[in-house]
Amino acid sequence: MTSISGKTNIDWAAFAARLAPVDVIDEPVLVKKRSRDFFWYSPILNDELKHSFGDLVAVPKTADEMKHCLKQAFDAEVPVVLRGGGTGNYGQCVPVDGGLIIETRGMDRILEIGDGFIRAEAGALMADMNAALKETGQEMAMFPSTQDIATVGGFVAGGSAGIGSLATGALREPGNLIALKALSLEADPQDHVFEGEDVLKIHHAWGLNGVITEVTLRTVPTEDWIACMATFETYEGAYAAGYAVATADTIAPKMASVVDTRIVDYFPRLKGHLRAGCSLLAAYVPASDVADFNKLVADLGGHVDLTLNDADREVKKIPHVFEFCFNHTTLQVLKSDRSATYQQIGVPDPADADAITSLRADLGDDVWTHHEFIRLGGEIAAIDLPIIWFSGKERLEAINQTYRDHGFAVYDAHSNQVERGGLHNADYSHLAWKKRLDPKGLLNSAKSTAWELVKDLTPEDIEAKAVTGMSQ
Ligand SMILES: Cc1cc2nc3c(=O)[nH]c(=O)nc-3n(C[C@H](O)[C@H](O)[C@H](O)COP(=O)(O)OP(=O)(O)OC[C@H]3O[C@@H](n4cnc5c(N)ncnc54)[C@H](O)[C@@H]3O)c2cc1C
Repeated sequence: MTSISGKTNIDWAAFAARLAPVDVIDEPVLVKKRSRDFFWYSPILNDELKHSFGDLVAVPKTADEMKHCLKQAFDAEVPVVLRGGGTGNYGQCVPVDGGLIIETRGMDRILEIGDGFIRAEAGALMADMNAALKETGQEMAMFPSTQDIATVGGFVAGGSAGIGSLATGALREPGNLIALKALSLEADPQDHVFEGEDVLKIHHAWGLNGVITEVTLRTVPTEDWIACMATFETYEGAYAAGYAVATADTIAPKMASVVDTRIVDYFPRLKGHLRAGCSLLAAYVPASDVADFNKLVADLGGHVDLTLNDADREVKKIPHVFEFCFNHTTLQVLKSDRSATYQQIGVPDPADADAITSLRADLGDDVWTHHEFIRLGGEIAAIDLPIIWFSGKERLEAINQTYRDHGFAVYDAHSNQVERGGLHNADYSHLAWKKRLDPKGLLNSAKSTAWELVKDLTPEDIEAKAVTGMSQ
């Protein structure tokens, strides 16, 4: 069997036989499909990654089968990329060096639910976890809008926040991620358990420093959630109301998103339900707080167009409110027009609506803002995930510069390197654990520029750089 990736000199038929009894997929069309994620959101990443494929897919069903795959990969020096649901936006699970894709979907058992926590295998779908929790009067403290296809292991390894983060903070904040169990990629793969603050040694490392097999996450009591959609004649009005809802003493939303009217035009399933030509405030609010939400919107000059519980929503055939927030907003536009893309922007002061107005005036007609409110370190923060009509790298860089000139941070969504995007800098603690758990550097190494610079050091020397700093 030849190499599908064209990048390896391994006898893949013989290697597949060594993986038995683990299920494998070797049909090239299917291997190529499982080599992709949502990197096509970015035309830059699309050009870079669309011809990167793995060579073989393994689908272990138990931790022992996973250990067997890792041992075989170590012995044969095969590059490995973990894959959950493949919903990452930056090509995190694209096998850039070719090699073995290990899909975790076969390991999807929910192992334990207790008061305030859920423990599940890494391949469990978050929608299944939320469904199981509902019977106990709980829900996940946060989950991405991709919960129907995204795995909990992929969320912890690749994600950062989600629906619920307005109430409970980002995934990395104390108490949200309770414990992670991860396997090393060695001759005799070992289990490592990370608890408390130590979970950050593995969280958001894009699967390059260990194979997560079990996740324990915080849960919260569930509420009778009402999807609320309000419209405003100006973006500024919708933004100010979004901030007011996020910070109100009498309202406890788990999501609040503000969407430019031009983006709302790309939501066909809301047509006829919302005032035309208006910007949108979409929020998830407990039933007991809806009256306060309605009053706040009216006081700020808006109009409440929809307040729906789940049953009403299904009758009206309207999607979940969270399908109009975070990266789902971008997806709604991309469904109609693939020339759109996006960026990830940090807002320096979420209370400063004037700064947003002045920025918007400078951005140009090819940038349509969309803000999400979340809680970071207990304080309300805002991020902008604007729709950008892509006309080339130079224009994208000019847009980034406009944001920077106004004091906003750009977390590049068009890079396949873990050090760019959300982290901005090398995480030497991640890389020290990579050296410990993946001594041959076989796990998704192409995604870290800094790994190349430190891979010959000891874990302790790599860790020391976290303190002293090191330019890249
Ligand atoms: C429409 C849309 C909306 C989104 N909304 C959000 C959001 O609200 N919040 C958010 O944080 N993200 C969001 N994302 C990004 C993505 O959906 C989430 O990060 C998701 O949880 C990833 O899960 P997955 O199973 O698809 O992971 P994958 O894409 O399969 O993997 C993600 C990364 O984790 C690694 N990985 C997977 N499983 C393991 C494992 N067991 N051990 C070690 N490494 C592993 C992979 O190698 C890869 O690097 C969104 C994406 C889309 C397309």
